[in-house]
Amino acid sequence: MPGTAAEPIHDPADAAKETAAPARGKAGEARGKAAASGTSSAAARLAKLGLRRPVDLVLHLPMRYEDETTLAPIAEAIHRAGLGLPAQVEGEVISNEVTFRPRRQLVVKIADDSGELTLRFLNFYGNQTKQMAEGVRLRVRGEVRGGFFGAEMVHPTVRPVVPGEALPDRLTPVYPSTAGIPQAYLRKAIGGTLSRTPMPETLPRAVLDGPLARLHLRPLADCLRLLHAPSPQESEAALADRSHPAWQRIKFDELLAQQISLRRAHAARREKTAPTMPRREGGLLTRFLAALPFRLTGAQQRVVEEIAADMTRPHPMHRLLQGDVGSGKTIVAALAACQAIDAGYQAALMAPTEILAEQHYRKLSAWLEPLGVPVAWLAGSQKARDKREAAARVESGQAQLVIGTHALIQDTVRFAKLGLSVVDEQHRFGVAQRLALRGKAGAADTPDSAATAAETVPHQLMMSATPIPRTLAMTYYADLDVSVIDELPPGRTPIVTRLVNDERRDEVIGRIHHAAAEGRQVYWVCPLIEESEALQLQTAVETYETLVAALPDLRVGLVHGRLPPAEKAAVMDDFSANRMQVLVATTVIEVGVDVPNASLMVIEHAERFGLAQLHQLRGRVGRGSAESVCLLMYQAPLSPTARERLATMRETTDGFEIARRDLEIRGPGEFLGARQSGEAMLRFADLQTDAWLVEYAQEAAELMLARYPEAVEAHLSRWLGGREHYLKA
Ligand code: ADP
Ligand code: MG
Repeated sequence: MPGTAAEPIHDPADAAKETAAPARGKAGEARGKAAASGTSSAAARLAKLGLRRPVDLVLHLPMRYEDETTLAPIAEAIHRAGLGLPAQVEGEVISNEVTFRPRRQLVVKIADDSGELTLRFLNFYGNQTKQMAEGVRLRVRGEVRGGFFGAEMVHPTVRPVVPGEALPDRLTPVYPSTAGIPQAYLRKAIGGTLSRTPMPETLPRAVLDGPLARLHLRPLADCLRLLHAPSPQESEAALADRSHPAWQRIKFDELLAQQISLRRAHAARREKTAPTMPRREGGLLTRFLAALPFRLTGAQQRVVEEIAADMTRPHPMHRLLQGDVGSGKTIVAALAACQAIDAGYQAALMAPTEILAEQHYRKLSAWLEPLGVPVAWLAGSQKARDKREAAARVESGQAQLVIGTHALIQDTVRFAKLGLSVVDEQHRFGVAQRLALRGKAGAADTPDSAATAAETVPHQLMMSATPIPRTLAMTYYADLDVSVIDELPPGRTPIVTRLVNDERRDEVIGRIHHAAAEGRQVYWVCPLIEESEALQLQTAVETYETLVAALPDLRVGLVHGRLPPAEKAAVMDDFSANRMQVLVATTVIEVGVDVPNASLMVIEHAERFGLAQLHQLRGRVGRGSAESVCLLMYQAPLSPTARERLATMRETTDGFEIARRDLEIRGPGEFLGARQSGEAMLRFADLQTDAWLVEYAQEAAELMLARYPEAVEAHLSRWLGGREHYLKA
């Protein structure tokens, strides 16, 4: 069979083969059999890569290519050695020996009319020695290097050929793979499947010629054939950076599948029932608004209306409230809670850190308990008895508002009648945690009503100060309605941000004095030490001691993650009440903490923090009317990206602008954090380079859902198979 003759003896693209080489000879044969024998073991191997259906194989696209379409004379390949370019040569084996110095290795020499070349293998199987016996003609691809014994290739790709055997006329694909699945095996499996699997067009003609006309999309089947086996004439750069028209088609189809399924998830949610919560005149909501010490900003009023309207409908709200740090989201959440309570339901508010949750608890109970609303507190650090007691009040329905951390979503916590769940700083939670709170609707339902209860879900409000750039919002959050608070409460003076070299620490301490003399308060944030929590703690303690010594007339406090919760709360209490002027803290104060009298923020080793984190930290000041200052202390020299981050912080306080630059510096994957982006389904499209395609995909998705239900099904099943559930959160 000519097919078998072309199987490579050694292919470095199979990294796994190198590492899995202990049983020489036998392993090789066993592998050969596995590839040739029963389809079930073949299927099992491919399933390891998630390749179950023929279409999965067809959509398993190369990461890169190798050009095996040309041959160079050995002398020329040697001449170009050192340029770092791979070359392909062909020659007859003139010697073959296993040497043991400096370690066991196989050294094969080949020759053509122009010269000789050494091939060196450090890992090899017994039968490879035979396959490269003297007189065998080999086609060899690799990089020629000037070795100790002259020009050589180490671990080249090698295959035996008959003299005059034709060269491939296409580039050779290299596929994403995993241990034990050689490239040759994948190429054969994919190549075969590709020729047997028709890939009919799923996009209706009217869509291709209508909203998508400007994209000039090529037929998908052609694009797949091209990408699996491009001709060497195709632009290598366009294939590599995936800007080639064939890649664009693939990315478009992938984005389209994503948009369609996000829209369907949205529609499915609308099918579900949620309690309707009409707004009652003279209810809690009205009394609360009347008691507020300030007036809502226009932006707050607008988002309150949007949320209130959602909650009057019999379908679950699924809304993201975005507003920059300090824009006043908490009050909006409190108003929504009032509406739920007015309608006879419970509301829950979950925050990612205990400090923040506790602050919410104190603030909201101060606002609402005087109006007769019982509030319960649930946190991990609570004494078992208190926790049980709180849980009992939640389960009996006695507690109308429940505030806490992740403790809220534990199995032991059951709500009598949860109608609204609010998740603060939602980006800090994983998808599963957010879903868990949503699933807590009516624990008091009896088993017989379980069927209907499953369909009834609470309204959900998510809040975040981390603005999501538009392109990300359109894709990852297409299933969310978004409200934006784009205005800060009046009377705030913009924060002035300065970069200060570490060496000017004394001046910084002088500024603390100055601020305290004016009755203001100060945060001092300790450096982030990612490698070691213990070290971070130690630094915090040292900084605290230094500041205590340097500022004998001021009260300095320390708060960090290891502090027992009661002490943590006591310190925060002292700081909130201005009994303490300086708070030395680790990043535990990063989100949410609200002490309006604090006006100076010092961040030590600011170069170690990410942009989003710096922005959040800086947002702890500038919450009152006094002019606030943020000093970013850094240690020179700065890396280029650190410099860029700090410059951004100095130039702008606009959270959206900062998020945009952050996205630019880090890319969307990191921006969202693995928990949110990891499960997202984009394999090929890149939201940074391909964002422009998203709008087309949205338009096409809408049109297809409205008019071409069969095309929708075909397209989704091709691209998603069973993976649709990833998008439901
Ligand atoms: P964030 O949006 O960062 O969660 P908060 O809800 O903590 O902001 O609000 C920041 C501060 O602004 C709080 O002290 C809050 O009481 C205050 N605040 C909120 N809304 C207004 C308003 N309309 N007028 C004046 N102060 C307000
Ligand atoms: Mg907040």
